[in-house]
Amino acid sequence: MIKFKNVLVTGGSGFIGTNFINLLLEENLELNIFNIDKLTYASNNKNHEANLKSPSYNFIQGDICDRGLLDMVIEENSIDCVIHFAAESHVDRSIEGPEEFLNTNILGTFNLLEASLKQYKSTDNFVFLHVSTDEVYGSLGSKDSSFTEENQYLPNSPYSASKASSDMLVRAWHHTFNLPTLTTNCSNNYGPYQFPEKLIPLTILNALNNQPITIYGDGKNIRDWLYVEDHCIGILKVLKTGKLGEVYNIGGGNEYTNVEIVLKICAILDILSPLNAKDSKISSYKELITFVADRPGHDFRYSVNSSKLQKSLNWEPKTSFDIGIKQTVEWYLKNPEWVKSVINKK
Ligand code: NAD
Repeated sequence: MIKFKNVLVTGGSGFIGTNFINLLLEENLELNIFNIDKLTYASNNKNHEANLKSPSYNFIQGDICDRGLLDMVIEENSIDCVIHFAAESHVDRSIEGPEEFLNTNILGTFNLLEASLKQYKSTDNFVFLHVSTDEVYGSLGSKDSSFTEENQYLPNSPYSASKASSDMLVRAWHHTFNLPTLTTNCSNNYGPYQFPEKLIPLTILNALNNQPITIYGDGKNIRDWLYVEDHCIGILKVLKTGKLGEVYNIGGGNEYTNVEIVLKICAILDILSPLNAKDSKISSYKELITFVADRPGHDFRYSVNSSKLQKSLNWEPKTSFDIGIKQTVEWYLKNPEWVKSVINKK
């Protein structure tokens, strides 16, 4: 078991980082948590308003590209564990403007590795966990086997290329400098606090606002969905009991086409937020579905084989897709103020 006390979480005010910090606090692990986040459009610092009252939680607004700041935060707080979520994460934005993706995802990771290495050299107890994506493995055909940790890296978008580069840097800092690292490559996440530019929250909000629910191409692209809490539990397992230097895939085992996902959300909304027959020209949210021109280079299918994590660290997802997606729709229905605050930042 890796022992650590002072944890630096990067990007802890984004979607997965928020859920992860909440899990750390719920688990009551007697850790000091330091969240460093630049607070880009994808974040919301209100996510941690309640956590600020906890003596275990500390927030630093800052950029992982700022090496001086990283050195200061890591040294002053005797950081012995870095969990690296901070990234630019939206494929569409990486196509419109790749530069920020290269800055944060590659140079930011480089800075963090260097600052971590400096700290590791002055302490013998340190771990760097890098949170990455299944998109680094490229795209599968419908009959191809799921991605294992042995798959070749074949990233296709500027986003996945930048994440693949960061994975390679982490690998190199382990092999060359002996930095104790762990890497996780996870499939598509869904759940509370996801910025509404990604398929699931965007569909929910467009439906509720009576806007077209847009789907790229023919909508047959397949993703492997994992409830965010299960991802966070997986990361914590890897952190506590993973073998240093190793890579672990984390996947939901829930493959659905984009059309299937959107239809499921519409069916849930038809029950939880029924359209008013008097005011609405449509009788089901699915009538808002509109197919639009496909995203350039759109990967066809992702599918993750997480048997290494399941067998060696005894992890398995506990939330079925049908339960997780209903919980997610309910969360967005119950949190219009959160939605308003992030949309205003767009
Ligand atoms: P997100 O976009 O919701 O959050 C990213 C966070 O990083 C934001 O709070 C943002 O303010 C912060 N950030 C961005 N640039 C920064 C910088 N230069 N310095 C400091 N903070 C910065 O992303 P997410 O969906 O929570 O993803 C988190 C990580 O998990 C990413 O590394 C992503 O590649 C990976 N991942 C995401 C998914 C998914 O489905 N969302 C799946 C697998 C892996």
